[in-house]
Amino acid sequence: MSHSDELFARARSVAPGGVHSPVRGFRGVGGTPRFMRSAQGATITDVDGHSYVDFCLAFGPLILGHTHPAVAAAASAALVDGWSFGTAEPYSLELAEFISSRIPWVESLRFVNSGTEAVMSALRVARAATGRNCILKFEGCYHGHVDSMLLRSGSGLAEAPVPDSAGLASDVIASTLVTPLDDEAALADVFARRGAEIAAVIIEPLPANYGLLPQRDAFLQAVVREARAAGALVIFDEVISGFRIGFQGYAGRCGLRPDLVTYGKIIGGGFPVGAYGGRRDLMELVAPAGPVYQAGTLSANPLAMRAGLAALQQLADGSLYARLDALGQRLERGLRNARGLSLQRCESIFWFCLSDEGAPALPMRTPAAFPADAGNCFSRLYHPLLERGFYLSPSAFEVGFFAASHTEDQVDRLAEAICELRAG
Ligand SMILES: *Cc1c(COP(=O)(O)O)cnc(C)c1O
Repeated sequence: MSHSDELFARARSVAPGGVHSPVRGFRGVGGTPRFMRSAQGATITDVDGHSYVDFCLAFGPLILGHTHPAVAAAASAALVDGWSFGTAEPYSLELAEFISSRIPWVESLRFVNSGTEAVMSALRVARAATGRNCILKFEGCYHGHVDSMLLRSGSGLAEAPVPDSAGLASDVIASTLVTPLDDEAALADVFARRGAEIAAVIIEPLPANYGLLPQRDAFLQAVVREARAAGALVIFDEVISGFRIGFQGYAGRCGLRPDLVTYGKIIGGGFPVGAYGGRRDLMELVAPAGPVYQAGTLSANPLAMRAGLAALQQLADGSLYARLDALGQRLERGLRNARGLSLQRCESIFWFCLSDEGAPALPMRTPAAFPADAGNCFSRLYHPLLERGFYLSPSAFEVGFFAASHTEDQVDRLAEAICELRAG
């Protein structure tokens, strides 16, 4: 029995499923989750002393890798100066100015403690600004665990949603509409019928929480066009793509301008931070400037603000992104001949989809394209990869990430291991 096995048995008696966020529990791949003790650079080490090259990287925040010295120094300074004041302080101002001066459509922003909170608050602002109740979202996009976003398409009416979780309030089910990605006709249809009720359309402009499903520019343009025509706001959820697909995120890449944007993950340098921001007139609706209440005891926590700023300072000149993209190209080359594998990648986000029926057809733009055996094939591959020292997100439908601390050799070795295991 490994130390991880022992800890997992204990953890299950004090926490649901033994974990504090579901995917960590390894249900998607079976077996015992590795209890990690420490990490540095691209390496994470478990309580049994096994080290892994980490391609999960805390599900996205660690674009610099673990324990980056600049982030560590900023966090250490906060430990000296104090880490929670509950007052106005200069650290959140610095971080807000750093972001706002580099991302013109973020005129004003508010820090919160998670991506979920950012989304929840942005939706509230949208409802207040429009006086409307409905939110339109897309099948296959994830926006955190707020009630109104835990819904997917039902089988009947295109946009009549069904809950993805027990315990959702029934009124939020009625006020959320769900439509497919990559489908302009369905989009036009839902706006034609319900447009006047829609406060906002929320989308991951680069959907990266259920596989990686890059959208056509024309589809994203249609989303913005339909929303504007109906008087609805556009919210880009860039919690995962923000500061990763270039400093300006996917909005910077595709040239579209959201009314509101949500951030999380990278923005806190690995500490718990989220943010929502956008048009000043909309953000001025937020308390205490305006009537939309939103608060947080630990919001703009100085330790997290200073760590976040240190992380973003490493990214702002853009040079790191080219190197991360080069790592991605290496993985693409290395996996070109892997059996029954298709790789989708956007810069430093990658996702491979497996099938024993042959390589899945690319590009995949909606979850409907996933082969039925993708999950099984991934589970079979997952534990042998762990044994060879590679830690991937423990689910077939979670993406992987490159960090500044990865070496070319580590990427080549991952590709070789996958090719070998798929061949055998
Ligand atoms: C991770 C994520 C969230 C939720 O953020 P949390 O910090 O986990 O609450 C929301 N939206 C997107 C696009 C995400 O990737």
